[in-house]
Amino acid sequence: MAIIFSKVGIIGGGISGLAAAKQLSKHNPMVFEATDSIGGVWKHCTFRTTKLQTPRCDYQFSDYPWPQTDDNSSFPSYSEILDYLDSYAKHFDLFKFINFNSKVTEIKFVGDHETMAYQSLMSGKPMWEVAVYNTNSDTIQWYSFEFIVVCTGKYGDIPIIPKFPMKKGPEVFKGKVMHSQDYSKLNTQESTQLLKGKKVVVVGYKKSAIDLAVECAEANQDEEGKACTMVVRTLHWTVPHYSIWGLPFYIFYSTRFSQFFHQRPNQGIFRDLLCNLISPMRKTTSKIIESYLLWKLPLIKYGLKPEHPFEEDYASCQMAILPEKFFPEVEKGKINFKKTSNWWFSEGGVEFDDNTKLDADLVILATGYDGKKKLKDILPEPFKSFLQFPSGMLPLYRGTIHPLIPNMAFIGYVESVSNLHTSEIRCKWLANLVDDKFELPSTEKMLEQITTEMEIMKKSTRFYKRTCISTYSINHTDEICQEMGWNSWRKKSWLAEAFSPYNSRDYEHDI
Ligand SMILES: Cc1cc2nc3c(=O)[nH]c(=O)nc-3n(C[C@H](O)[C@H](O)[C@H](O)COP(=O)(O)OP(=O)(O)OC[C@H]3O[C@@H](n4cnc5c(N)ncnc54)[C@H](O)[C@@H]3O)c2cc1C
Repeated sequence: MAIIFSKVGIIGGGISGLAAAKQLSKHNPMVFEATDSIGGVWKHCTFRTTKLQTPRCDYQFSDYPWPQTDDNSSFPSYSEILDYLDSYAKHFDLFKFINFNSKVTEIKFVGDHETMAYQSLMSGKPMWEVAVYNTNSDTIQWYSFEFIVVCTGKYGDIPIIPKFPMKKGPEVFKGKVMHSQDYSKLNTQESTQLLKGKKVVVVGYKKSAIDLAVECAEANQDEEGKACTMVVRTLHWTVPHYSIWGLPFYIFYSTRFSQFFHQRPNQGIFRDLLCNLISPMRKTTSKIIESYLLWKLPLIKYGLKPEHPFEEDYASCQMAILPEKFFPEVEKGKINFKKTSNWWFSEGGVEFDDNTKLDADLVILATGYDGKKKLKDILPEPFKSFLQFPSGMLPLYRGTIHPLIPNMAFIGYVESVSNLHTSEIRCKWLANLVDDKFELPSTEKMLEQITTEMEIMKKSTRFYKRTCISTYSINHTDEICQEMGWNSWRKKSWLAEAFSPYNSRDYEHDI
């Protein structure tokens, strides 16, 4: 089959792929989505009870607000999110760009090796060839592009399965083992059937694990119902809602004033010094939030109080919002906890390093996903080795461009309180870049900026292995705006600039 040439290719039809398609629509991009629908994780990694953790007002496209509701700060269910995305794609006529059931299986660099450093983006010449496997027709078609935007997502597709020594893995267990991804494929009836009357162990203590434990408790409400046990390695702070001692959560971290207290890249010696001087205020903010959480939730009673400060979870985007029913089910004895640093399978369940064991019928691994492997599986050498950084973070300039990978952008690999906003603003920046509205700095300068950001992450949190900008997100977006030639201060008054929160609606267009 002849190779089909087009200017822009986008891989993935989740939120990042949709935002990229919208912002690059004038180039008629070809979007390849491996599955038969848009939405990514919201379609494929959700359970019956999964809701957005970010308030809806923070998780919306800048030019397409959610339909008005009474409560703008409420958390939509996953199906509401899918409806919202569907209506966004229809409104901006994005479906015409999307090829469903089209999995990118291989990418080849066909550009000139001498232009490997970042140069003209739309040179009119193919830079990348992409093999697309059509899961319906069982055929492979090659395409070539001047520019590729990779939006394959950090979650979903490739589950992380813990490794075990010989004879201590799932093969010795007589019950059933599954990853949360397999669980998310079940419908309500199937999932209730699976959990009902079973001794379930849920491994993990992040959002999916917490949601799963609640579903397990709900399926086991009757007399014969069994308790579910969460196996917890690292405790993280959990938050019941976005209000702390009656104050809205955003005032602690999402205004210019609150972010002023946090380290940020390129802040200069004076600010660095100031940040160190005022670090007690930062710690006090964290303590105020911790004191509220310890008062509101029975964290001490159940041994769930993390040893690290709240702000380290916030700075690494690890804060989970608790479903309302979580602690009521814990208090009823339907959810138990086992804190351990090491566990393994036995014939009848799981065993722990303190010589205790737990009988189980079903073990569900809510152990996350390997987003980097998805990238490495499709990228050719030497590019795939460029993704391997000792810190574990993906080295991307503005969270988008790898300085050593030409004519390719990555969207969806930087996290914040709203990943939708983080992805969309980067797509706007990218559209300006592709249209030559500004130029990228030199490779050295980009690497320098990336290293500075990584240093800030390392200083802010021990969990720095994921790129999270939540404590300096406004500053990060300021820099993006400046590069696009946009005004970065976007509020109507100084007061609002200092004390009101920033979200995607502030960045609909230049002002
Ligand atoms: C359970 C859960 C809850 C979450 N809650 C929140 C929240 O409250 N707030 C928040 O900000 N973020 C949340 N997130 C993070 C969420 O991942 C992002 O908000 C966002 O949806 C990510 O979108 P994405 O497009 O970058 O990636 P994805 O949604 O993962 O989409 C990637 C798409 O690429 C496709 N794809 C992958 N590989 C290929 C290939 N080789 N070829 C073709 N297509 C491919 C996939 O099929 C998928 O459709 C949550 C994540 C999960 C898993």
